[in-house]
Amino acid sequence: MRTTCRSPNTSPIRGEIVAAFGKHFLVKTATDIALECVLRGKKGGAACGDQVEIRLTSPTQGVIESILPRSALLYRSDTSRQKVIAANVTQIIIVAAAVPAFSEELINRCLVAAESQRIKALIVLNKTDLAEPARAAFATLSLYGRLGYSLLQLSAKTDVKPLLPYLHGHLSVLVGQSGMGKSTIINALVPAAERATAEISPTLDTGRHTTTHARLYHLDEISGIIDSPGVQQFGLQHMSSEEVAWAFMEFHRYLGQCRFNNCRHIGEPGCALLQAVQEKKIDARRLDFYRKLIMSLTPSVGAFSSARQKVQH
Ligand code: GDP
Ligand code: ZN
Repeated sequence: MRTTCRSPNTSPIRGEIVAAFGKHFLVKTATDIALECVLRGKKGGAACGDQVEIRLTSPTQGVIESILPRSALLYRSDTSRQKVIAANVTQIIIVAAAVPAFSEELINRCLVAAESQRIKALIVLNKTDLAEPARAAFATLSLYGRLGYSLLQLSAKTDVKPLLPYLHGHLSVLVGQSGMGKSTIINALVPAAERATAEISPTLDTGRHTTTHARLYHLDEISGIIDSPGVQQFGLQHMSSEEVAWAFMEFHRYLGQCRFNNCRHIGEPGCALLQAVQEKKIDARRLDFYRKLIMSLTPSVGAFSSARQKVQH
């Protein structure tokens, strides 16, 4: 039998999205009841971590009527669409490992996304039990520690406890390529995670593998973690080139110092960032990642030279 809305006067219920399955969501209420919900209208989309108001359509189902204002929204985008990853997170945890090899470019994209939302970033080098490759990987990642990012080494398979102090008081989102150990970390932190997944109704999970969906787990009263296995590619098409430059924290002091006002730092003469690289004040890898990112945002960036003629000196 079809269910219909109760009386229109039914007051909305507050809840939190704890699982996102495309257009379907699992919302937990303050009394810990899990409701299968759909989003009213098509605007924007909702994400794990969103605080929402819902109206019941049956004892176990509802409609998300509104999304409360977010403190942060992490999303990725390519040229054709945007995808919300997580809402209201206060920390992004980038999981890397030596085996299989991690992508330093993806790490940089995640850091840019974190900076743009003013979210704390933590890089975790997992699988340190693989001692020799882990040492080399850590040497590469130490650059980010020097920049001021938190950098932690652990072996999630052996002991996930070193991560615990970093989680305290945060809503964290785990990102990284597949194979880095995100699921292993979640299962070690939340032994019931598998069971919780199994509890989700098949109507929400039609024919799809559960690990393709974002899920939120509360660790204690003030800490939670979102597992977002979809984050393999981190398109940042929604960002302007100025925003991208500002998201490289060590660039700040040089921005505005280039010869051309609208210097994009991709090879123009008199570029202060390039000079800083030559003087070893900025690591060349970071300027390279910045340039790759700019190129991916604007494939026609070669057109810049004609624009350059118009700028003031
Ligand atoms: P995910 O794709 O990021 O969720 O990665 P998984 O958690 O599925 O892990 C990928 C593979 O790495 C699995 O075979 C894990 O057993 C393995 N793995 C995870 N953590 C560790 C670790 O600390 N040490 C080692 N040696 N292997 C690990
Ligand atoms: Zn420049």
